[in-house]
Amino acid sequence: MPGPKVFVFAPGNEASLDEMREAGCELTLGTARWADPTGDTKDKFVENATHADALVGTSIKGVRIDRDVMMASENLRVIAKYTVGVDEIDVDDATELGILVTHAPTEANWGGVVESTVTMLLTILKKTRERDNYLKDGKGWRDDALTGTYLGSRRDGNIGITIGIVGMGRIGSRFSRFMLPWGVNLVGYDPYVADEHFESHQVRRVTYDELLEQSDVVTFHVVLTKETRHMLSAREIGLMKPTSIVINTSRGPVIDEPELIKALQEDRIAGAAMDVFEQEPIDLNNPLLKMGDKVFATPHMAANNHGAGIGPGIVWGTADVLHALRGEVPEHVFNPEVLPRWKERFEGRSAL
Ligand code: NAD
Repeated sequence: MPGPKVFVFAPGNEASLDEMREAGCELTLGTARWADPTGDTKDKFVENATHADALVGTSIKGVRIDRDVMMASENLRVIAKYTVGVDEIDVDDATELGILVTHAPTEANWGGVVESTVTMLLTILKKTRERDNYLKDGKGWRDDALTGTYLGSRRDGNIGITIGIVGMGRIGSRFSRFMLPWGVNLVGYDPYVADEHFESHQVRRVTYDELLEQSDVVTFHVVLTKETRHMLSAREIGLMKPTSIVINTSRGPVIDEPELIKALQEDRIAGAAMDVFEQEPIDLNNPLLKMGDKVFATPHMAANNHGAGIGPGIVWGTADVLHALRGEVPEHVFNPEVLPRWKERFEGRSAL
């Protein structure tokens, strides 16, 4: 009897593919790769997903895993991601259809984003690129324009900068812990987190508008949902200080990019550090890449670090697929509300 069909829409590494093959799975590999997540056309994706028991992979940008994809197989029991975000999957549809969605919020991944966020913040505020380039370009020795920002409060009365954290989940919370010893003022907005969480992290809870008005740095750590899409647009930018900077390591569409570009061009805010963009891979003609040191841009690699990256996530995702194929509930379920329905359909029924 042929083994269960697994469509690996954006393959991770050879070891994970071998593990699934050795367990008896028949694999179909998609063309999306980490270096270029565009991947298959919608038609090809649906063709590959036809009669699949599981879909698994890292991020893809070219195709949404929507109802059309899910309906291509009556056997589909799990859609597993090697990464944290599941925003390319229509999770509500999966839940309605009785399909499990799993993801991999490994510390290696989200902890890497925290470290990169701190790096981006310091790169801009300490003018590291400007100072380095000034010397190497032979422009001279010192220049007032290269003066950085002192971040922390001091005994001489310097009150320190205010950092606004939007989203106090894994990444936002650890970011607050990393920044606290610097003596900065931390304010935060997250309607879904308890007061005690803010208190234990010494982050002052404020409304979103207050955060935008008060912060020198606004950093986004929200999941991408209908509610957070374009949560920074013209009105919100209008509330920010002209000296403030924005950091986005969450998801590109959280920020209305054309409005951000206009605000930067018109000096209504001072700068932006971006790891994620509305379109990925970014169009190299995007004005964000033409604004010199005002914008610090990185290619959605905040989580990618030696000793970390998505390696541990691939292990989680592979295990989740194999558990689901054995008829067992996997460990990292993103849509637990589907479980009663899923158990009725698949629990105890191994496809391997
Ligand atoms: P998380 O689920 O732990 O935290 C997200 C937080 O956002 C939650 O606390 C939630 O309550 C909050 N939130 C939801 N809606 C909100 C709203 N309207 N306003 C304010 N807060 C809201 O997720 P995480 O692991 O901390 O990841 C955060 C983001 O980072 C996600 O978008 C994830 O996709 C992204 N991420 C990016 C990379 C990268 O390589 N750049 C890597 C990993 C994760």
